[in-house]
Amino acid sequence: MKPKYYPLLLIFLCLKSLQSQTLLIPDRVFDGVAMHEDWVVAVDQNRISYAGPLNGLKKSNSYTKQELKGMTLMPGIIEGHSHLLLHPYNETEWNDQVLKESPTERAVRGVVHAKNSLMAGVTAMRDLGSEGAGYTDVYLKKTIDDGIIPGPRTLMAGPAIVATGAYGPKGFHDGVTVPLGAVPVTGVDVATREVRTQMGNGANLIKIYADYRWGAGEPSRPTFLQEEINAMVNAATTAGRYVVAHASTPEGMRRAILGGVETIEHGHEGTLEIFKLMKEKNVAFCPTLAAVESISQYQGWQKGKDQDPDRVTQKKKSFKLALESGVDIVFGGDVGVFTHGENYRELELMVEYGMAPLKALQSATSVNARVLHFEELGMIQNGYLADIIAVEGNPAVDITQMKNVKFVMKDGVIYKNE
Ligand SMILES: [Zn+2]
Repeated sequence: MKPKYYPLLLIFLCLKSLQSQTLLIPDRVFDGVAMHEDWVVAVDQNRISYAGPLNGLKKSNSYTKQELKGMTLMPGIIEGHSHLLLHPYNETEWNDQVLKESPTERAVRGVVHAKNSLMAGVTAMRDLGSEGAGYTDVYLKKTIDDGIIPGPRTLMAGPAIVATGAYGPKGFHDGVTVPLGAVPVTGVDVATREVRTQMGNGANLIKIYADYRWGAGEPSRPTFLQEEINAMVNAATTAGRYVVAHASTPEGMRRAILGGVETIEHGHEGTLEIFKLMKEKNVAFCPTLAAVESISQYQGWQKGKDQDPDRVTQKKKSFKLALESGVDIVFGGDVGVFTHGENYRELELMVEYGMAPLKALQSATSVNARVLHFEELGMIQNGYLADIIAVEGNPAVDITQMKNVKFVMKDGVIYKNE
């Protein structure tokens, strides 16, 4: 380029950097840990460049200002347990979704679910199993990351792994071949191979089912042998991935914990002893309260009118024990069982079941970022990625405000601004 063009280029570059510098001015900021009154947050390109009082910011006049009056600004919500490829079971039962909806239909639905999640303030998501749709979750992730469709940042589990014979759909005679909701394995060699296959096909983490109901109407019982769990965790961690376990029974949970999984999903029958073991071994707990309540409601329970069904009573009890143990609580509702975009329901239930609102907000942001391995997310802090939302009012006082997300920014790009 000839020298005479330099001044023009410089002006262009200055304008571009000016345009991409935004100053967000809410009533207060939740930084992922604590609430701060009268803070402002500056965003430069896709990163947070300042968070603190206005008088601490140099050259504040050079920013494009965005007032967020009456709102609380906070890190984008990190959903810990979703299924983008499922939709509520009261619309279509799980069996029929797996058996009758093509992977194409499920992908199309997934596109809508991804957008609805982002618009609800979920800027990152750990998706725990495609439930019979193979690697459609991995392909969905690619289209989001390539900017083809709007959606959260995702960590995808792929098809997930179950013990042979344990998972559904079930109830067919042995001459009928049905697509299963996950890949069945038996033995250390086969289990190890499947972990490697799933990682090779793009799974960011591995989900296993450490217990399940073997027959309709039966209680859950352990599935994998200890050596099978150990082998799967070894294969995954060798490759820099981690394993999460669906587990509801104390024995299923215990085997998963001793095997080295990083989070336990559901834990309905968790005891104080098991939750203490989790804390000791640095295993986090994802309680999926909203899924339990949703399924009870699909079966006819009218919350607030009818008595709590047994499974809700049990869930409240085990969640209290988990809180008492001090185990890390992952915010994750098993969304997909209920409507995508209503992720806030889990936050409301965490508070209803005894967690302090500020703790619940920490769980959905800084705790989930750390536990789920979302680097540089979950905090409003200089240098972190600019995944930022704003909600009406103060959710630390009234957690139900989390359903009123008015502003969504992901990677520095504004997706919602009401
Ligand atoms: Zn799930």
